[in-house]
Amino acid sequence: MRSFNKIEENDISFFTQVCGEGNVLIGDEISEDFGRDEMTPESMRVMPEVLVTVDQANQVSRLLEYATQKRIPVTPRGQGTGLVMGSVAVHGGLMLDLSKMDGILELDRENLTLTVEPGALIMDIRAFAEAHDLFYPPMPGEQSASIGGNISTNAGGMKAVKYGVTRDYVRGLEVVLPTGEILQLGGKVAKNSSGYSLKDLIIGSEGTLAIVTKAILRLVPNPACTVSLLVPYPDALSAIRAVPILLQGKIMPVAVEFMEGDVIVAAERYLGKKFPDHSAEAYLLLSLDGRSKDDVERDYEHIATTCLHTGAIDVFISDTQERQDAIWSARGAFLEGIKAMTTEMDECDVVVPISKIVEFLEEKQALEQQSSLRIRSFAHAGDGNLHVYILKDDIDDATWEKQLHLVMSALYRKARDLGGKVSGEHGIGFMKREFLEQSAGAKAVSLMRGIKRVFDPEGILNPGKVC
Ligand SMILES: Cc1cc2nc3c(=O)[nH]c(=O)nc-3n(C[C@H](O)[C@H](O)[C@H](O)COP(=O)(O)OP(=O)(O)OC[C@H]3O[C@@H](n4cnc5c(N)ncnc54)[C@H](O)[C@@H]3O)c2cc1C
Repeated sequence: MRSFNKIEENDISFFTQVCGEGNVLIGDEISEDFGRDEMTPESMRVMPEVLVTVDQANQVSRLLEYATQKRIPVTPRGQGTGLVMGSVAVHGGLMLDLSKMDGILELDRENLTLTVEPGALIMDIRAFAEAHDLFYPPMPGEQSASIGGNISTNAGGMKAVKYGVTRDYVRGLEVVLPTGEILQLGGKVAKNSSGYSLKDLIIGSEGTLAIVTKAILRLVPNPACTVSLLVPYPDALSAIRAVPILLQGKIMPVAVEFMEGDVIVAAERYLGKKFPDHSAEAYLLLSLDGRSKDDVERDYEHIATTCLHTGAIDVFISDTQERQDAIWSARGAFLEGIKAMTTEMDECDVVVPISKIVEFLEEKQALEQQSSLRIRSFAHAGDGNLHVYILKDDIDDATWEKQLHLVMSALYRKARDLGGKVSGEHGIGFMKREFLEQSAGAKAVSLMRGIKRVFDPEGILNPGKVC
């Protein structure tokens, strides 16, 4: 383990000189929110020694150069909506709040790109694109996350089946290296085979290699028409068995989400709003888009027939924007709904080949029966990406720690045996490092550590994360 230096008075003077007095907070001045993300257990909260709000790449550059010289750990922070403690300052030190760098800088219609600062929120980027009749497809469940956070975790979300993930929409990046150098990677070009793709190395690196200070995003034409289908199934396994069949057809859905009935009920309670139906044990929620109402109608009739052939109880069609917004906002509240069901929980965000989701779910069901823990799940089923939540409820701390580790280990082992990966979209952060090593193997992790050393020789940038 590397040793770092504590922040001293003269360091704070330097931060203040670079960023201005009101932008440097210490001790009790820092809100407790900065000691956690959305999944940090109470017992693992850690406050940074100093919180600095930056508003220019130049400031980031000067702070990183200084931190490297002084061996001060630095944690980049977007909106703190991460789920693996990636943006928690586990070694203390300096936290860089990038939320004020939130400009939407340039829409380039000829190249179909949008240049943004890292603190721009996903909901603002999507709304800006739509106001210009364009579309930024990545749609993670948490729309108040920042684009810097989404790029750093390679966020996925609910439209990945047809449109892909954040990586597919990043054309260029401006980044600051731990040495303070500012680098332009990629650009507005649509293709690039010019040596190793450093841009792609930064995407998904969880703030451990460099800090993103600008991004050039790719936009696509706005689909004129969308429709959503809520499809109840008698049980979870028959819903999941339908997924590969639906994806083999000629129509590519935008989204294929899986949810258990009681997760819907939990989201209804949390939001105080009703879903169109919650009486079945399991559901698929699909969305389709296209250029005209006729095209989309033809597609959804075909998909609805396939659903009924695969054992669906019914198909509820939502074709007005209002109804679709209601369904998808309820879908976005699943995590909060499950959180409200229990005292504490941990999450597993595995991804497996689509053909193997059933086997993974069977393992999850068996583990729930064997252990004394409640386990709930929902999934971006069209991507094979499951979110499994292990709930503590009223179990004592010692039993919880032991049981949780047993269940988590079994879930990750199963995912690996099925050809899956530790994380589909939330990343490794601080919480899942143990499982990355088991899954990726020692050689892959040692290559990752080598890459980290090249970017960050003193190891000051987001230490204790990923590998
Ligand atoms: C209700 C809910 C639903 C969610 N649904 C989804 C989903 O569907 N799909 C999905 O992928 N995720 C989802 N998430 C997880 C989370 O929103 C994402 O991980 C998101 O990308 C985090 O963005 P953030 O701005 O909050 O980043 P933070 O949590 O602040 O940081 C995340 C990581 O990025 C790093 N980072 C942040 N900004 C920068 C930067 N400018 N440069 C370098 N590193 C940086 C941090 O150090 C950290 O390692 C969900 C979370 C919640 C609470």
